[in-house]
Amino acid sequence: MNELTSLSVAEMRRGLLSKQFSCAELVDAHLMRIEETNEVLNSFITIASDSARKAAAQADEAILRDADATPPLTGIPVAVKDMLVTKDIETTCASQMLKGFIPPYQCTAVARMCKQGGIIVGKTNLDEFAMGASNENSSFGPVRNPWDTKRVPGGSSGGSAVAVSAGQAPLALGTDTGGSIRQPASLTGVVGMKPTYGRVSRFGAVAFASSLDQIGPFARSVEDLAFLLQAISGKDENDSTSVSEPVPSFSEAIEKGSNDGLKGVRVGVPKEYFIEGMDSAVEEAVRKSLSELEEMGATLVEVSLPHTELAIPTYYILNPAEASSNLARYDGVRYGLREPAKNLREMYAKTRAKGFGPEVKRRIMIGTYVLSAGYYDAYYLKAQQIRTLIINDFKAAFANDCDVIAAPVSPSTAFAIGEKTDSPLQMYLADVFTCPINLAGLPGMSVPCGQDSNGLPIGLQFIGKPFDEASLLRCGQAYFKQSNFDIRAMAKKSSSEFAI
Ligand code: GLN
Repeated sequence: MNELTSLSVAEMRRGLLSKQFSCAELVDAHLMRIEETNEVLNSFITIASDSARKAAAQADEAILRDADATPPLTGIPVAVKDMLVTKDIETTCASQMLKGFIPPYQCTAVARMCKQGGIIVGKTNLDEFAMGASNENSSFGPVRNPWDTKRVPGGSSGGSAVAVSAGQAPLALGTDTGGSIRQPASLTGVVGMKPTYGRVSRFGAVAFASSLDQIGPFARSVEDLAFLLQAISGKDENDSTSVSEPVPSFSEAIEKGSNDGLKGVRVGVPKEYFIEGMDSAVEEAVRKSLSELEEMGATLVEVSLPHTELAIPTYYILNPAEASSNLARYDGVRYGLREPAKNLREMYAKTRAKGFGPEVKRRIMIGTYVLSAGYYDAYYLKAQQIRTLIINDFKAAFANDCDVIAAPVSPSTAFAIGEKTDSPLQMYLADVFTCPINLAGLPGMSVPCGQDSNGLPIGLQFIGKPFDEASLLRCGQAYFKQSNFDIRAMAKKSSSEFAI
């Protein structure tokens, strides 16, 4: 049974259609794996056993009726970040504020994934309201990295990354506002993508920083990732920022990557993305993978993104500004927690004081400050102007020099639990290579490219032009196919070997 939890989605599909195993068996194997490993890894907040088993039984019936007519994700277990609302399944955002909140509707990306046959196996742990880069800000406790359980998996979508890495689900959905899909993918040795802003509907993704948030997929191969991306992409009437740009066939991009390598692809290498203070193992692994891209036919071009060093300060003004507005809705009246009080004002104050953790409060305070009348021009407006300069950096690079950009994802490999919790600033610096991509609204993907001397995974980031996820998939697939990184290593590990 245990082998079922390390298969690729394509292998699962073949096994299901040829009746080697049933959807019920596949889902049961994953639920069992979750039960056996969650005590240590803490990657799930809610395990949706009953609804998953029910959906698996229906999927088996559909296969029995007409296997070929079933959609591509039929019977495939999918883990969903607890930042996405799921109808009738508790959604907490890892906050005490939302404890007990059962949404009356389904997030569009989740609904589309289910429409293609995917089955929700549970809701994954995260930094509270997706604020963090280590998963230590969860009010449900930290998530542990399967490669070394004393270390963080990254964040904020750490639970989704770990679910895929450790064989609890072959696919997962996350959200990425400043790196929260790519960074945990990098730290746990899986593939993760933040699509272009507007490619995937944000309807039902709990709003954090609305001009930066995007939903995206995690997988154990670039091909598997493409299946989930295909399912969730496209215009949605419920999100006016989703775009009607046609969605190409992502499997064609995968085929191109498999067959044509990187012939004719100009890969930009931003000189500002190799900086003092980054782990030398990360720099070495990324540089080595760049020469491998060259061997596969790519032309490397040095590019400059001169405003890169302004990205973190810009992001940490705009992000809290938007977060402070979005989080105003948690007032004790409409959702989850309500603290008893003598009057309405006191109820607001007590509920928010109790319901939010320290990082969330920090963002609300910073955000309120930078938006306040006397400081708006000095901070918020200035940050918006710098955001435009950052967008223009990327525009210039893509207009003149290159088709995709390759860069590191995270300046370090997985750090120890507790190592950065005393310094919010240190934690914010983890986003140095990821948050510029959100500021510019571009697609970005992390693909494993090596390991440090402790065996911890390192990710390579591909960054694309707006709505050119296809090029990222092509490059990612070409690179991934020739790589000898064992992406299934943790999924194959026996459950009893995960210990603290
Ligand atoms: N680390 C970043 C932050 O804390 C990214 C968060 C995210 O992408 N959700 O804001």
